[in-house]
Amino acid sequence: MSILVAGGAGYIGSHMVKDLIENGEDVVVADNLSTGHRDAINPKAKFYEGDIRDRQFLDKIFDNEDITAVVHFAAFSIVPESMSKPLKYFDNNTGGMITLLEAMHDHDIKYIVFSSTAATYGVPEHMPIKETDPQKPINPYGLSKLMMEEMMAWADKAYGIKFVALRYFNVAGAAPDGTIGEDHGPETHLVPIILQVAQGKRDELSIFGDDYNTPDGTNVRDYVHVMDLADAHILAIKYLKEGNKSNAFNLGSSTGFSNKQMLEAAREVTGEPIPAKMAPRRPGDPDSLVAASDKARNILGWSPKYDDVHDIIATAWKWHSTHPKGYDDRD
Ligand code: UDP
Repeated sequence: MSILVAGGAGYIGSHMVKDLIENGEDVVVADNLSTGHRDAINPKAKFYEGDIRDRQFLDKIFDNEDITAVVHFAAFSIVPESMSKPLKYFDNNTGGMITLLEAMHDHDIKYIVFSSTAATYGVPEHMPIKETDPQKPINPYGLSKLMMEEMMAWADKAYGIKFVALRYFNVAGAAPDGTIGEDHGPETHLVPIILQVAQGKRDELSIFGDDYNTPDGTNVRDYVHVMDLADAHILAIKYLKEGNKSNAFNLGSSTGFSNKQMLEAAREVTGEPIPAKMAPRRPGDPDSLVAASDKARNILGWSPKYDDVHDIIATAWKWHSTHPKGYDDRD
């Protein structure tokens, strides 16, 4: 019996695979390596290279392997890119989910844990954001993921495929043993970009907007450690296998940090000056996104181990400082 991790070569997926294997599970990875890295895949996982939009590829996996649940990370996730290339997001994200759910239905696979996003909430009406708050995305990325959530709800009603949608806030950090980490090309996320400046790979950080409706004018986000996130997926699989109903949970720390605060924290962790300048707003960014995460704590029993952004940044720094070229540095 195995868990299929779609997108297991990516940043979050690779940490999920590591966590599952350390918890004694057999893992099958499906990944087209479009943004993931072969070297990020845990050597104890069985790897199928291919695209989840390819029905024959999925059938091969489901025919060959005894898959009991799917964890789905195989999606594009960059907000600004989705603003300029919306159809790329509807094709891969939303379209990929159609093929995956059809294949799961035909092979009688009943459980899926899905990486959804705080971007499905759009501009929140109040903070912290609750799972029951309106989902009105303001960018194609968020909409592509909301459509995937809604498709799963209909697939549950029609075919009995049970799902957990985990709505991530801002994921950061790396495996504490330093073996895997975040390596996007090109990099767009705040924490790795700040650390690339600390490493001297970039001259300075551009902070996108300082006239937002927040205490210091820069966006406020809620950072959660990637291994805590992976733990929540393991709890979600258990929740589904225990026969519970389909559900959605926010995954965040319930504490907001502004972009300026993140920069300061990174300066403290790295001891580097990290030059920064103010730059224009980036399209598609809401002022603040902070999660109410008590539902995941109460129902899934989730208890994140990292509650200080300094500790989150420190694990990311361990990876970045030992792998200055990302996965290209590995043996
Ligand atoms: N950000 C920034 N400079 C950068 C990259 C990101 O100021 O070079 C800001 C971005 O505008 C947002 C926050 O950092 O306010 C987090 O952005 P990120 O892309 O990491 O995650 P997202 O919130 O889009 O999922």
